[in-house]
Amino acid sequence: MDSSSHGPRAVPWHLFPDGAGVDSRGELLIHGLSVTELAQEMATPLFVYDEQQIRSRFQEAKKNFSGKIAYAAKAFFCKAMAEIVADEEIHLDAASMGEIYVALSGGVDPSKIVFHGNNKSLTELRFAVEQKVGLIVVDSFDEIERLEKLATFPLRVGVRITPGIEAHTHEFIRTGQDDSKFGFNVQNGDAATAISMLSRSPKFDMIAVHAHIGSQIFSLSSFRQEVEVLSTFLAGVEVEDVILGGGLGVAYLRDERAPSIKEWVQVIDDAGRRSGLSKGRSLVIEPGRSIVATAGLTLYEVGTIKRIPGVRDYISVDGGMSDNPRPVLYGSGYEALAAKRLFDSHDTRFSVAGKHCESGDVVVRDAKLPSDISVGELIVTPVTGAYGFSMSSNYNKVTRPAVIFVDQSGYRVVVRRETLEDLVRNDI
Ligand SMILES: *Cc1c(COP(=O)(O)O)cnc(C)c1O
Repeated sequence: MDSSSHGPRAVPWHLFPDGAGVDSRGELLIHGLSVTELAQEMATPLFVYDEQQIRSRFQEAKKNFSGKIAYAAKAFFCKAMAEIVADEEIHLDAASMGEIYVALSGGVDPSKIVFHGNNKSLTELRFAVEQKVGLIVVDSFDEIERLEKLATFPLRVGVRITPGIEAHTHEFIRTGQDDSKFGFNVQNGDAATAISMLSRSPKFDMIAVHAHIGSQIFSLSSFRQEVEVLSTFLAGVEVEDVILGGGLGVAYLRDERAPSIKEWVQVIDDAGRRSGLSKGRSLVIEPGRSIVATAGLTLYEVGTIKRIPGVRDYISVDGGMSDNPRPVLYGSGYEALAAKRLFDSHDTRFSVAGKHCESGDVVVRDAKLPSDISVGELIVTPVTGAYGFSMSSNYNKVTRPAVIFVDQSGYRVVVRRETLEDLVRNDI
């Protein structure tokens, strides 16, 4: 990647996919394909994923971790993603019948599916049992009752516990997190009760315990502490697998840096050995965001520019909260860059707004872009590969964007852009 010819606001390459590059004029390339051509052929907004990067993140995890890896489908999922999961022989964390269905459509081996959720319906559980899903992680006493009705043979189950800890982005809090809709509470004894109920019942094969301490976590010590807390709680509990959830953070902004997958899994392996948690048990991790976030980016076209002197300058793009609801949901920050001239000085503040009928529909509140940004230009927001497409909607009856996968051999459409007919397909 050429990173010459720019001053203090260098192109934040660490936010772009591995396959990103740039031509001599400063235009963004993905595996050598120009974003102008991609936008012309596919229209905008467009989700572009570096397929090679998704695979290499899985390979990085497999190579450096002694346990098992389950991809958390909710971060980004479609048939092509399921095919990669199957191809890379990764397990899959599914949280609904729909995610199981897509996984099976993409060829994921049902025995590699882990089924999560705090309110799995009887229909969903029946589907999971019929499809021979490998593991159902039980989340409530009501669910135990439901499963007892379905189990005709010892059913492989796990128990989700809430160890009373939750990691936030930069700190680790040990109080207050007993207030959770997920799992069985450890403090009040529910977790131990659930574990003994399931281990005693002939209908179940209780093979796993699961905990997930949060998402977008930068501090590896949080994961170390999670392992230590679980090792104390599970002393004497016999299970095959201890599932530690996902949660590794990624950098969204130019000044952020996140640990690599390799660093993350090595800390977990090391903590597992030292604490004894992995003695006679397999550790399982469930990364979502850290696999796909940086592999994906969104291309938008600028439609209007409004300068309100002394207040704010707006540029509006052709998508918004319907393809990336994270800024609205969590106040999440992103970078926005002029995709055809990455080397031009990005020194002028604009709010990049979406096209929806909400004042809060903002993609990037304070973006720095070239001062002469103009209508028709391409804007790229990097690091939109996780929890963007998967949370997309048809708000304002906007059709969902297409998704393309790019690698050295070119690009392929993996989810076509929705059409107007799609918008009335279910209407009767
Ligand atoms: C969301 C979730 C994950 C994935 O989290 P990331 O932060 O995307 O890595 C893993 N396991 C469970 C149970 C989850 O709910």
